[in-house]
Amino acid sequence: RTPDPQTGAAVKAADRAHVFHSWSAQGLIDPLAVAGAEGSYFWDYEGNRFLDFTSGLVFTNIGYQHPKVVAAIQEQAATMTTFAPAFAVEARSEAARLIAERTPGDLDKIFFTNGGAEAVENAIRMARLHTGRHKVMSAYRSYHGGTNTAINLTGDPRRWASDSGSAGVTRFWAPFLYRSPFHATTEAEECARALKHLEETITFEGPATIAAIILESVPGTAGIMTPPAGYLPGVRALCDRYGIVLVLDEVMAGFGRTGKWFACEHFDVVPDLLTFAKGVNSGYVPLGGVAISRKIAETFEHRPFPGGLTYSGHPLACAAAVATINVMEEEGVVEQAAHLGATVLEPGLRELAERHPSVGEVRGLGAFWALELVRSKETREPLVPYNASGADNAPMAAFGAACKKRGLWPFINMNRTHVVPPCNITEAEAKEGLAVLDEALTVADEYTV
Ligand code: PLP
Repeated sequence: RTPDPQTGAAVKAADRAHVFHSWSAQGLIDPLAVAGAEGSYFWDYEGNRFLDFTSGLVFTNIGYQHPKVVAAIQEQAATMTTFAPAFAVEARSEAARLIAERTPGDLDKIFFTNGGAEAVENAIRMARLHTGRHKVMSAYRSYHGGTNTAINLTGDPRRWASDSGSAGVTRFWAPFLYRSPFHATTEAEECARALKHLEETITFEGPATIAAIILESVPGTAGIMTPPAGYLPGVRALCDRYGIVLVLDEVMAGFGRTGKWFACEHFDVVPDLLTFAKGVNSGYVPLGGVAISRKIAETFEHRPFPGGLTYSGHPLACAAAVATINVMEEEGVVEQAAHLGATVLEPGLRELAERHPSVGEVRGLGAFWALELVRSKETREPLVPYNASGADNAPMAAFGAACKKRGLWPFINMNRTHVVPPCNITEAEAKEGLAVLDEALTVADEYTV
């Protein structure tokens, strides 16, 4: 870990010359050159170390460089680095078995992809073919991936530039009491009104035209809004009533993040299709997939499924998933996330909210938390406007810089900071991060009215 600024400068120079980054104006970004990472930390070439409260992009659920997963990848590389998807391969078979044993209900078949967006694409393809219908419904406050169907299902502004492909997508409002689209004042009211709104939207769209409703079990990037207890069961009932496939997107919320293997377990709801990625192997090698219910799997028993990927179930990625799931079982990582949420993150964040005028709401569960930063607790006006950039975004930029200066890498989206560390972060590390947030929030407080 000896600082090596010269190598760092070379890494940065080649990046700026040749790497085209996601979601960015290429001339306006300044990516940090990262020298290494371990557990809950990463560090640069200058000797600065950061506590990672982002888990990458919410994927390192067991932290960086877990030795057992690294060893499993090395062993798989030594024995069978790659193999085509049409064969039965030990790592793939074992990964599918371990995942299917953990997904709820009869979600017993796994179609592997390289990541979350492809999982969503293929889940929607399955739903359309299974029902013979075309339309798909999704929530405004959502993110489902960057490919054509997935970005069109997404609600957030990243969709706007790609809206040309939106044909067949209808959006609705899901419950979010703090900024209730239904003018509700209680969770029960929010839940009832959101379900009524959804049913009316289905009625006016024409139930027989709707193939699927897709929802994140707990919406992630859009703000970690845990739905009221009755919402997902209510959506399940509507899907059953109208013959609509329920797709729950667990790409971010799955694999321990919420303190259960899958977030839908909190609500006792079993979807017809469940998409996953990220935490399935802590993001060590790209992997995602769709867990498929029996009745949808049967549709493709004697009729080919018209979809596939060269690297579906890549052995290296699957070996990483097998090792990750085994580590999560052996080390009780799912229980750790639940315990961390209940004993450290929730009380610590609520205490920050009491003292800081800029914290409008704290919400979440497990290792999955959001702080809604506001100009005023009373009016709930967001600290920065929706989709702000440049000078408009100055308060959040100042808050982010204050975190980084103190050795904490924060997750920031619009007027929110998400606290999404590895699920196995230690109590001491989590408290270290909360202490930095406490100091950085004083910077955000300066922008309150
Ligand atoms: N679905 C959800 C809920 C996500 O959070 C994401 C990524 O953040 C995706 C889908 C897309 O996954 P990927 O970026 O692996 O394609």
